[in-house]
Amino acid sequence: MNFNTRSIHSGQRPDPTTGATIPPISVSTTFTQAAPGEHKGYEYARTNNPTRAALEECLASLEEGESCAAFSSGLAATAAVFQSLRPGDGVIGGHDLYGGTCRLLERVFQPWGLEVAYAADSSANSCARAAETLRRPRIVWLETPSNPLLEITDIQEVAAAAHSRGMLVVVDNTFASPYLQRPLALGADLVVHSTTKYLGGHSDVVGGAVIARRAADLEPIRFLQNATGGVPGPMDCYLVQRGVKTLGVRMEKHCANAQRIAEELSSWSEVTDVLYPGFLAHPGHSIAARQMHAFGGMVTIRLRGDGQTARRFCSRLRLFACAESLGGVESLCAYPATMTHASIAPDVRAARGITDNLVRLSIGLEDVNDLLKDLHQALR
Ligand SMILES: *Cc1c(COP(=O)(O)O)cnc(C)c1O
Repeated sequence: MNFNTRSIHSGQRPDPTTGATIPPISVSTTFTQAAPGEHKGYEYARTNNPTRAALEECLASLEEGESCAAFSSGLAATAAVFQSLRPGDGVIGGHDLYGGTCRLLERVFQPWGLEVAYAADSSANSCARAAETLRRPRIVWLETPSNPLLEITDIQEVAAAAHSRGMLVVVDNTFASPYLQRPLALGADLVVHSTTKYLGGHSDVVGGAVIARRAADLEPIRFLQNATGGVPGPMDCYLVQRGVKTLGVRMEKHCANAQRIAEELSSWSEVTDVLYPGFLAHPGHSIAARQMHAFGGMVTIRLRGDGQTARRFCSRLRLFACAESLGGVESLCAYPATMTHASIAPDVRAARGITDNLVRLSIGLEDVNDLLKDLHQALR
């Protein structure tokens, strides 16, 4: 079946006892056994739960992986991947990673014994060069498009380089969603999601997931899901599952609105840079055109002026809420320097291009003319 059909039907078989078309939300923490050890595949809800199992089946299908483990947040999913390594193992981080992922690496897993090196830019070559600085490089961790600069990395090229050195490639696919990009089909080994964003899609649930191309690569993650217990509740799994059913139609509109807004903003004198992979002039455009179905719903801009100008712009927007997060039906604006990327040291932030006049927009599904009017009045 094709993507939109799978997003609606995978893991969603009618309930065998009642025929309920939408499977019931299974709240039971425990499952009655006919005799000790004689059960129907469910024993205790941390270990496995029917609502979670349905979501895991659906996400594995959408990412074209063999199996999936759902977590209580994107960072719980991320932590499980790092925890599956051993002290002394090395992680190569992409050039422009989610702030919380850097914090997890630097404040939790480096003290715990992982070695970490970052790629100097978004090219596959610099991932390979970073690997040479580590004693036991084990995984490459990528985001493409990246956050907040929307840089593009060639997943196929990184996978080829990493596999030749015996490393696994993990792609945080939160920004693209599986509708726009399927890293496992491009050679990545694991995909990680914050389902809080486009998959949930309505800014009303926090969740995460890890999906593996080969079931064997998920085994250590599945073990940690149960052993450390960062699992999502059944209501949260249900909300993500419901969101996923409209992922395809939502992403089409997010992308169309974002492309239009990016084009308009480029012609305004108050805006000095518009970072959008859909532009021919974007350095990653040709790679994005190859590995993505469309260019995403995020647009990052630099304003003519300083940090104060950018902060004032954020607070003058009326329809765009100034808020963390992204990927919901409502448009949001974020100021990375003090919001999403505040946990990164100012000098490191500046060196990475997260300047004080940078604003990140998550383009929602409102009427695009209303969004443009709002941006215009705030800029003036
Ligand atoms: C939000 C986000 C995360 C963290 O996910 P949570 O659900 O907030 O824990 C990780 N990666 C990216 C790219 C994100 O946008």
